Amino acid sequence: MKICDAHVHLGKSGPWQPYANPTIYVDELIRLFDKCNVDQAIVFPNPNVGDKYPEMNDYIAECVNKYPRRLIGFGRVDPRREDAIKELSRIKKGLGLTGLKLHPMVECFRPDHPFFKKFFQKTNKLNLPILFHSGDGFSSPGLILKIAKNYPKLPIILGHLRESAINALKECENVYVETSGTLPDFLELSVDIDEDKILFGSDVPYYRYPTQIAIVEAAEISQKAKRKIFFENFQKMFS
Ligand SMILES: [Zn+2]
Repeated sequence: MKICDAHVHLGKSGPWQPYANPTIYVDELIRLFDKCNVDQAIVFPNPNVGDKYPEMNDYIAECVNKYPRRLIGFGRVDPRREDAIKELSRIKKGLGLTGLKLHPMVECFRPDHPFFKKFFQKTNKLNLPILFHSGDGFSSPGLILKIAKNYPKLPIILGHLRESAINALKECENVYVETSGTLPDFLELSVDIDEDKILFGSDVPYYRYPTQIAIVEAAEISQKAKRKIFFENFQKMFS
């Protein structure tokens, strides 16, 4: 089955685990896609590049220009920075990127704090869909839902389908989930709620394709639902 991947990191990384280096450059990534049957993917910078998001966003744009049919570029912006709103405009209008990746734990911000209101207003105005890391603390789906409710036209993708993300699907029309690091059980529950809202995600290079693909394959859901998750839902959103 042809695959579209909603969660891929690309480019240089700072130090990560002693046993793994997440740095991956674009030609190597495309070779990996070819090997694993990945047709298209959303790509964005690695988390731990210090204050170098703007430079890394430039690299993502370069990669998208090199492989426009394969890659959809999302930028990363640290919402705490004074130039955050300017950078939002730059990634859309200057670099032509499609969306935004936010990780409230890495960037250490609470999404519903009033300080970030202007940031989200601008994201909405520029129509930059957001892929949020979701999990605990500042990344909890409950906090992210507040943003989704404030901007009902803006697509919000919750990264990593955890138990806490399942209910979010029921609450907001504009909320989607992606499957990296989930369990087949959670996928089955989510498909029961809305199979049109689930995208396949790998979180490559932090996870690997064989395991992430196997999660979806192992779920006891219909072939039709698998096709939607692996391919059709993504196509509907991004082509
Ligand atoms: Zn990730």
